[in-house]
Amino acid sequence: MHVRDTLYINGEWVASTSTATIEVIDATSEEVFATIPEGTVDDVNRAVEAAAAAFPAWAATPVKDRAALLAKVAEQLGNRNGEIAEVISHEVGMPLLFSSLIQAGLPTGTFADCASRVLDFAFDEEVNNSVITREPAGVVGAITPWNYPLHQIANKVAPALAAGCTVVLKPSEVAPINAFILAEIFHEVGLPKGVFNLVTGTGPVVGEAIAAHPKVDMVSFTGSTRAGKRVMVVASETVKRVSLELGGKSANIILEDADLAAAIPDAVFKCYLNSGQTCSALTRLVVPRSKLAEIEELATKAAENFVPVDPFGEAPEGTFGIGPLISAAQRDRVRGYIHKGIEEGATLLTGGAEAPEGLDKGYFVKPTVFSNVANSMTIAQEEIFGPVLSIIPYDTEEEAIAIANDSIYGLAGGVWAGDKAHGIEVARKLRTGQVEVNGGSFNAIAPFGGYKQSGIGRELGAFGLEEFLEVKAMQL
Ligand code: NAD
Repeated sequence: MHVRDTLYINGEWVASTSTATIEVIDATSEEVFATIPEGTVDDVNRAVEAAAAAFPAWAATPVKDRAALLAKVAEQLGNRNGEIAEVISHEVGMPLLFSSLIQAGLPTGTFADCASRVLDFAFDEEVNNSVITREPAGVVGAITPWNYPLHQIANKVAPALAAGCTVVLKPSEVAPINAFILAEIFHEVGLPKGVFNLVTGTGPVVGEAIAAHPKVDMVSFTGSTRAGKRVMVVASETVKRVSLELGGKSANIILEDADLAAAIPDAVFKCYLNSGQTCSALTRLVVPRSKLAEIEELATKAAENFVPVDPFGEAPEGTFGIGPLISAAQRDRVRGYIHKGIEEGATLLTGGAEAPEGLDKGYFVKPTVFSNVANSMTIAQEEIFGPVLSIIPYDTEEEAIAIANDSIYGLAGGVWAGDKAHGIEVARKLRTGQVEVNGGSFNAIAPFGGYKQSGIGRELGAFGLEEFLEVKAMQL
């Protein structure tokens, strides 16, 4: 069991002003895996003061020195890949191999990318008689969720530090231990005191105190649309910059001439990755009615190839292991949506709300596929955050595009087409921040973020760095 009883403020491990703690539950054993401090408003105040005091010197530190420290962080994250993957598999329930590649691997790459990207970044440009310069935004408050916990932290902290900002991080209280490992690494590589601060606790207390603090210049939030709206309201009092990475209900359009044998197994995988707990999961499969029967058969077969397993165990030969959901609350919510889908008249092809057989512990949900889903149904409109795929039939391509865009969200999407150029044409019509054509793979330096209620701003790559820069024009 991991006992973390201190916060990281101003370069030191210090006690919270409260002795209250939060228990972190293992998604598979359902037992207490760790405890962390339940931080307070006073803790936030101390951390923000430290970050504000550290800001001028860090902002003035030569870019090459900031880059060198970030490169060392990347190296240490790489060295501790196994430990990080293991911790996150306990916290989140993702099978260990995927945790190693994604949960621990992506943040390592993001720190390395920011270290090299900032060296080549053009901070100054000339426009007529002006020099336009980009300066660090200031003290950044970062508030992050549990589903890809260290990845979402890295998406904010790495570019913020590269840009010259200082940071107060509040990680998810549901998956926080990876954030303590990152703080240890910052300490080991010699990041100056106050440049990075970690305060754990709940959203309404620690999160809102960060969003409200007058010395926090920017709040960068990833999480649910509900909490993101609240952060925006709280932050508005001090007119700080707000960037939001929120939920999604992304559509994957299968066109008439698509290669179904390739498209449908990929579509099921893109819905079920991390047991469906992915903000950009392709959860609505929008298919030509003429091909519905064939697609239902392929989707059922692909879904039944996902077998619920202990994240530290092996999936049976030839199958994919799918871990539990993160918590009892999340499992119950997802099962509630499965009941709702049945009640609203969707056809249950496979899965269902009952517990999978043979697993008496762990927050498992059966990989589930619904067909004949109308886009107006609850399961097509609300983010479920579990392994539940909704197949929605269409009659014309225009209707398919309209269905895809008929959502309050606009995070991601997919198009499968026999003719790739035609697929790109359809992709351009989707009101979302990302679209993959014919299963195009995730690009860790392409901008990531949402249209509509999926958020404001972009993370990763060059766009992700610019988020943390203010623009000044000097007329000469
Ligand atoms: P959540 O909104 O419950 O929590 C996210 C973070 O916000 C946590 O640290 C939480 O403590 C904090 N928080 C909660 N209420 C708050 C408040 N009132 N003020 C300030 N902070 C508050 O989300 P979650 O359950 O941890 O994560 C799942 C959600 O995150 C899903 O909706 C998912 O789509 C979304 N998400 C989005 C992206 C993206 O990049 N767009 C990525 C991952 C997850």
